[in-house]
Amino acid sequence: MMKTQTNRNTFDAIVVGSGISGGWAAKELTEGGLKTLVLERGADKEFKTSSNNPWDFKYRNHLTKEELKERPVQSSHCDAGNKDFYVNDKEHPYIQEKPFKWIRGYQVGGRSLTWGRLSYRLADIDFKANKIDGHGVDWPIRYADLEKWYDYVEEYVGVSGSLEGLEHVPDGVFLPPIPMNAVEKHLKESVSKKYTDRVIINGRVANLTQYKKGRGRCMYRNLCSRGCPYSGYFNSNTSTLVDANNSGKLTLRENSIVKEVLYDKDSAKAVGVTIIDTVTKKEMNYYARIIFLNASTIGTASILLNSVSETFPNGLGNSSLQIGHNLMDHIVNEGTYGTFNGLLDKYYKGRSPGTIYIPRFQNLGYDTQTNDFVRGYGIQGKGERENWQSKPTTGFGAELKTQLETPGKWKISLGGRGEVLPYYENKISLDKNNLDQWGLPLVKVHFEYGANEKAMMEHMTQASEEMLRKAGFENVGSYRTSPDPGSAVHEMGTARMGNDPKTSVLNKHNQMHDVKNVFITDGSCMTSSACQNPSLTYMALTARACSYAIEQFKSNIL
Ligand SMILES: Cc1cc2nc3c(=O)[nH]c(=O)nc-3n(C[C@H](O)[C@H](O)[C@H](O)COP(=O)(O)OP(=O)(O)OC[C@H]3O[C@@H](n4cnc5c(N)ncnc54)[C@H](O)[C@@H]3O)c2cc1C
Ligand code: SF4
Repeated sequence: MMKTQTNRNTFDAIVVGSGISGGWAAKELTEGGLKTLVLERGADKEFKTSSNNPWDFKYRNHLTKEELKERPVQSSHCDAGNKDFYVNDKEHPYIQEKPFKWIRGYQVGGRSLTWGRLSYRLADIDFKANKIDGHGVDWPIRYADLEKWYDYVEEYVGVSGSLEGLEHVPDGVFLPPIPMNAVEKHLKESVSKKYTDRVIINGRVANLTQYKKGRGRCMYRNLCSRGCPYSGYFNSNTSTLVDANNSGKLTLRENSIVKEVLYDKDSAKAVGVTIIDTVTKKEMNYYARIIFLNASTIGTASILLNSVSETFPNGLGNSSLQIGHNLMDHIVNEGTYGTFNGLLDKYYKGRSPGTIYIPRFQNLGYDTQTNDFVRGYGIQGKGERENWQSKPTTGFGAELKTQLETPGKWKISLGGRGEVLPYYENKISLDKNNLDQWGLPLVKVHFEYGANEKAMMEHMTQASEEMLRKAGFENVGSYRTSPDPGSAVHEMGTARMGNDPKTSVLNKHNQMHDVKNVFITDGSCMTSSACQNPSLTYMALTARACSYAIEQFKSNIL
């Protein structure tokens, strides 16, 4: 295996995946002095539509029938303007034993290009939750272990938000918040008068409200999912990968599917990876002393399960048999809405990419306890004026024009995001009888919500409706359905952290218990899901693990 090793294919570190977490690994490892190879299965894509208007698209930004047929899964999340940043489901199939949306972006930058940018810290109650109520295994770290890394990451990313002093959604290093509009402020005031257990805060989003090192301020166009011409939101391509490249230590190889991690039983270490070049279709090996897997939760678990050897017949580092299991996503309700008859003299400027946020207000002690479910949920929302699309198009000429140009009533929509417990039965596995175009086994997903999640969903819908009614909203209603699991695009947990190698895959440094030079810092590592949008936590864990790995590398331990 080592015979073909040359200077050209040997690095200090290999990072698999260039999305949110892989970008961070690339930046930290290269800036720490390590010659690093980033392997990315997708191509480097331009931001071709970032300034297009709806009328620049043939079907006003809708997908064509043909495109819809090719994207039965991804079409719930993409449109004509950003479809290239989502995979074509026909070309990249997987097996859903039960419905599960696996939303993916195979390109340099991964889903950092399309993410919603909401960025909240986990709190100490989240890191202690498994231990307290016995679901899953205990996290091997606590908030105090991650706090300085959250600071470090937020400072770099540029998260706009307000300081609130809430222990269960800790404050961070924020840029000025994106201001609330009139109807959002109205709801905030009503909630603070009518409830003692909850507050509404400015959403915390990775959109720059101030210029930051080579990146421009957000212009409030709300077109982020097509890439930003001003670099106004955080993504790998305009920040972490740029700095990694500036270090002079980065090699980025696109169109490179990592097929497996190579293990050497004599040294009890991983020695490198095998890739399939998607252009030449050839297989090649690359070698390094340290390997970071950041191919996203399902991607990373499938690489590990495909990396079988005499020592690890069930997949690399899988002596616990936990790899692929404990898959989580956040539970989402389709949403609650209402209109408001008032504040008609108020409007707003631009199209804000911000939201309001109602942090978790259940099971925090005192009067917030409920017997209906454990853990909790937060609610995000947005208020705006109804536009011409909701107007009757009666009249002609000037009358019609005036009618279309006059903003309609205020409306608001709220959507909950709730914690999903880690169930061993929720898992991904590989179907070796069904191969993809590269000859790799298809991923099979088995996922179901439990009673806890269903009870939580009903609660979030009722609570959202009640808050709107109490604030004087009319026509209040909810879509009383839940989209398929996976829709939150917060999948995580398939190679969890834990103290005990018998029941977990990674230790407190995100290092494999079984194979010490392999680190996993994408969502796979999550021991529980909490209810906060998770990517900020992946970034903080990545920066922390890189710091440890660099130290170990320089001390010649790894
Ligand atoms: C519409 C949308 C809205 C979202 N909103 C939010 C939000 O508001 N807040 C939040 O926290 N999160 C949000 N997310 C989720 C967020 O995008 C993910 O949590 C985050 O991108 C995960 O980072 P990652 O590095 O694990 O994976 P990704 O960013 O998906 O990157 C993984 C990379 O690995 C590559 N890869 C996969 N397999 C291989 C392989 N075998 N070999 C080589 N390369 C491979 C992929 O091509 C990809 O580039 C949202 C996602 C979407 C799509
Ligand atoms: S809303 Fe802001 S960050 Fe998003 S694309 Fe527009 S200018 Fe860029």
